[in-house]
Amino acid sequence: MATIHDPPIHLVTPSPANFRMERTDRDGVTLLRLYGELDHLVAEELREQVAQIVDSGISKIIFDCASVVYMSSGCAGVFLSKLDQARRRGGDFKFMRVQGRMREVFDVLGLGTLMHYDFNSPEEALQAFKTPLPQEWLEMTQEGFFSTAAMEHYHLHTCEEVHTITDDELLRCDSEAELELSGKTACPKCLPGMR
Ligand SMILES: [Zn+2]
Repeated sequence: MATIHDPPIHLVTPSPANFRMERTDRDGVTLLRLYGELDHLVAEELREQVAQIVDSGISKIIFDCASVVYMSSGCAGVFLSKLDQARRRGGDFKFMRVQGRMREVFDVLGLGTLMHYDFNSPEEALQAFKTPLPQEWLEMTQEGFFSTAAMEHYHLHTCEEVHTITDDELLRCDSEAELELSGKTACPKCLPGMR
């Protein structure tokens, strides 16, 4: 778990080698401790690592950002790109000990209206998973119908078939008409009675 005795971070020329992520699993929650500079050079690696974890079915993640010395807005987008998927599975991302440039980027992007990044300790962040997310956040991830190119049906967010879809393959539509244009029909399990 996080301690205050972090090794000093030495500022050098940004390179992917500066980025590191450590993982700890506890009480059904995964703690990811981020180190170094989250710049454009590491965005792809960060995306792959976070995607791999969320795609494996883990949806409750605490990001410990105490040792992040820089973050680009592109890397902020990486987190957002997997957040919906985590929330559709009943999870969330909680960011703790966000500071400096990283906090500036989150603030400038207005992400306080979309996610929680004000936790000061793992205990605080863990505790927050017991509180339901604001209804409007949930609605954002739950609106509309979900499918993939390969799926025959479209589904509600509550359907277990949606829980297996990764963000890369997700098709999301606001209206039935939109999905029917793609030749899909309603899932008999989650949308009985709809065509
Ligand atoms: Zn369904």
